Amino acid sequence: MRCPYCRHADSRVVDSREADDGQLIRRRRSCPECGKRFTTVEEAVLAVVKRSGVTEPFSRTKIIGGVRKACQGRPVDEDSIALLAQRVEETIRAKGAAEIPSHEVGLAILGPLRDLDEVAYLRFASVYRSFDSLADFEREIETLRAAARAREGAGAEAASAAGHAQ
Ligand SMILES: [Zn+2]
Repeated sequence: MRCPYCRHADSRVVDSREADDGQLIRRRRSCPECGKRFTTVEEAVLAVVKRSGVTEPFSRTKIIGGVRKACQGRPVDEDSIALLAQRVEETIRAKGAAEIPSHEVGLAILGPLRDLDEVAYLRFASVYRSFDSLADFEREIETLRAAARAREGAGAEAASAAGHAQ
């Protein structure tokens, strides 16, 4: 690694430590020529392949930006959005692929966003799935209602089971 101060062609690693839950390694380096120290970060490259075939590095900041836009005016705080983006990145990295199609990134956002805020989810889904009619929204809303009913049903069962246990 070239020294950023004097451009000397070599440097020595004086310290290495994992950061961000092992996702990356920070190395403290020392230049044998000018004696200055600098830090490098090493992480596995994850590329997102867009529909056009162009690839770009995966960016958690981009996820946060997209989700924040969908959450505009909704009672969702920044911490929840940051946490969602972290979950999305974990889901994607867990696939173990070096390249991931952009639609899979969108898909990984939809699930956690639905849990976070249904209106934001609908906004995001309408763009991501290119809704072009009211029928598309109606179908999605019906799916959300069915999921809510299933959750209520499960909740009632759990409450009833708890009642039995007492
Ligand atoms: Zn140097």
